[in-house]
Amino acid sequence: MKFLNDTLNILFPPKCVLCSKTGQWLCINHDTPLKPATSNHAQYKYLDNISAQFSYSDPKVQKCIKQMKFRFSADIADFLVQKTSPQEINKDLMLVPVPMHWTRRLERGFNQSEKIAQALVRENPELEIKYSLKKIKKTKRQSQLTKAERAKNNQNAFRWKGATIPEKVCLVDDVVASGATIDAAAAYLKSIGVKEVHAWVLARGGA
Ligand SMILES: [Zn+2]
Repeated sequence: MKFLNDTLNILFPPKCVLCSKTGQWLCINHDTPLKPATSNHAQYKYLDNISAQFSYSDPKVQKCIKQMKFRFSADIADFLVQKTSPQEINKDLMLVPVPMHWTRRLERGFNQSEKIAQALVRENPELEIKYSLKKIKKTKRQSQLTKAERAKNNQNAFRWKGATIPEKVCLVDDVVASGATIDAAAAYLKSIGVKEVHAWVLARGGA
């Protein structure tokens, strides 16, 4: 993967997401502090705690995340994660990337939540990742649905395919908006015996 990243960086070097200056994802002029996440109206029934880093309303955050989803590369995930405090994540929590249905993963080539979790481990090697949570139902995009449809959309969407079930989990995702998907994942994890479910997301959007 390192080779692939290096090759990509030669072919498509990082460019500032705002002004396209080559060198870094935010050039020296635009590398100003990212707007921290503010609270929204998301209500969680099953999730014990969520730590959101940045606000999706900050154009720099939005453009970096879009670039990350579009490009098969981990370096934007690292770039963003390095601006957070991964040391604060409790090492008793098992990192679990929020899964994508395999058909979506195939379309995109990767799951950005996994890239973020891997970037967290690079910054905090005491953490561990388990890839056992799978999305077994191809759900519709939450933003196109009503609240009632959202709940139904996520029903029976997840499955744990691992030999052991961790006691405490930290779900990792790129953006959270209504919080319905992450809460559905938390509900499922609790139904199979996980005691605590936390979440760490890069950005929070409007609910
Ligand atoms: Zn710039």
